[in-house]
Amino acid sequence: MKTIDKIYINGEFITPQGTEYFDLISPTTNEKLGKVLLGNQKDTQNAIAAAKDAFKTFSKTTISERIQYLQNIQTSIEKRKEEFIDIMVEEYGGTLQFSTMSYNYMLKSFDSAINLLNTYDFTKTMGESEVQMTPIGVIGIIIPWNSSNGFICSKLSTAIAAGCTTVIKPSEMSAQQTQLITECLHEANLPKGVFNIVNGLGEIVGAEISRNPDIAKISFTGSTSVGKIIAKEAVETMKRITLELGGKSPNIILDDANFAQAIPLAVIAAYMNNGQACIAGTRLLVPKNRLEEATKLLEQTLSNTIVGDPKNETTTVGPMVSKKQYERVQNYIQIGIDEGAQVLVGGLGKPKGLEKGNFVKPTVFINANNQMRIAREEIFGPVLSVITYKTEEEAIEIANDTTYGLQAYVSSSDEKRAHKVASQINAGRIQINGIGHDPMAPFGGFKQSGIGREFGTIGLEAYLEPRALIR
Ligand code: NAD
Repeated sequence: MKTIDKIYINGEFITPQGTEYFDLISPTTNEKLGKVLLGNQKDTQNAIAAAKDAFKTFSKTTISERIQYLQNIQTSIEKRKEEFIDIMVEEYGGTLQFSTMSYNYMLKSFDSAINLLNTYDFTKTMGESEVQMTPIGVIGIIIPWNSSNGFICSKLSTAIAAGCTTVIKPSEMSAQQTQLITECLHEANLPKGVFNIVNGLGEIVGAEISRNPDIAKISFTGSTSVGKIIAKEAVETMKRITLELGGKSPNIILDDANFAQAIPLAVIAAYMNNGQACIAGTRLLVPKNRLEEATKLLEQTLSNTIVGDPKNETTTVGPMVSKKQYERVQNYIQIGIDEGAQVLVGGLGKPKGLEKGNFVKPTVFINANNQMRIAREEIFGPVLSVITYKTEEEAIEIANDTTYGLQAYVSSSDEKRAHKVASQINAGRIQINGIGHDPMAPFGGFKQSGIGREFGTIGLEAYLEPRALIR
């Protein structure tokens, strides 16, 4: 059993002043893995003070110094690949395949930040003026448990590229993953105070970051409901905010699509990270005249889906992160049944032989419509709703009939047609005939999926403040 009883402030592992512990529970067996000592408001204030102090000098570092720091971090993460993957599997039940992808995503964030530093012009001429793009200040980074270290890397790498310092609040459920990345960051020899990491609860550590006037910007990834709380607090001191929130992503299969490719891809898009992904394609829009074919292929694909211990290489869907999340997903499956959608595969209860962990049967609902709660609310579990449409226009209308707008998917055998449809969808990122991640392209949401973008030049500029000198 592990006890994590250190946080990281001003270049040192220290014991937090907080006295409460949070139990770390295995999603696969529900056995106790260990416990983490939580930081409190005073710990958070100390971390912010360290970051504020460090900003005075770090904001003046040269591009080549920042590149060197980013490379140092990347090197220390590279050395511990197996540990990173194992801990993701153990702590939140990510499959081996997903955890490996997540690990690669961590490294790619540094590539993209280094790439930006090599190409971005921090001093521009606009009109008669010189415009200096200057680091904003201390960044508060608040992140969820899913792909915890991936988010630390994407946000921290951009902050460092911009010349900002940081206070990071990971989810209390990711304490072991946090411990590992903190060790790597410590090894990278960054100046003291550039990154500070405080384990703790959202209502205590997260709330202090949201309120503290010395935080200049918050970069948050998490639920839309918490995003709204943070935004309200942040506006009091005019903090800049980037909010990466929830989604209910549509996946439009056009009538000319290659169904044998598109349906298995749709299943991956829906069940990635055990369905606990903000970009999960949870609304599958299928042409009415090809529903039967889609249904057969869904049944076939789902029969090859292996639910089980995420440590096994063949597992494609692991457990939900917590009992609470398991119950939430069960509740939504019941809601779908009560609303009159029909369970094609899966349904209520745990799969046979997996009663100990938080396992859910990957579920497909047919006869769903876009007004049902299962099609409107983010479930964050392996539940896919199939909705039929008659015309391309109707498919676009249904896709856009949501309060979210993070991601969408379009499949067609005609690229031009897919491009035309994708260009009418109100989402921050649209995947045509595939699933991928481009770390140089902006990522973020339309509507209630968020505010602002991460990655690429737009992502970097979210950490910079323009100063115009009129000559
Ligand atoms: P969450 O919103 O409950 O928690 C996210 C973080 O906010 C945690 O660190 C939590 O402790 C903290 N927090 C909670 N209350 C707070 C408060 N009052 N003030 C400040 N901080 C507070 O989310 P979760 O359950 O950890 O993660 C799942 C959610 O994250 C889903 O909605 C998912 O869609 C979203 N998500 C979005 C993206 C994206 O890029 N858009 C990526 C991954 C996950």
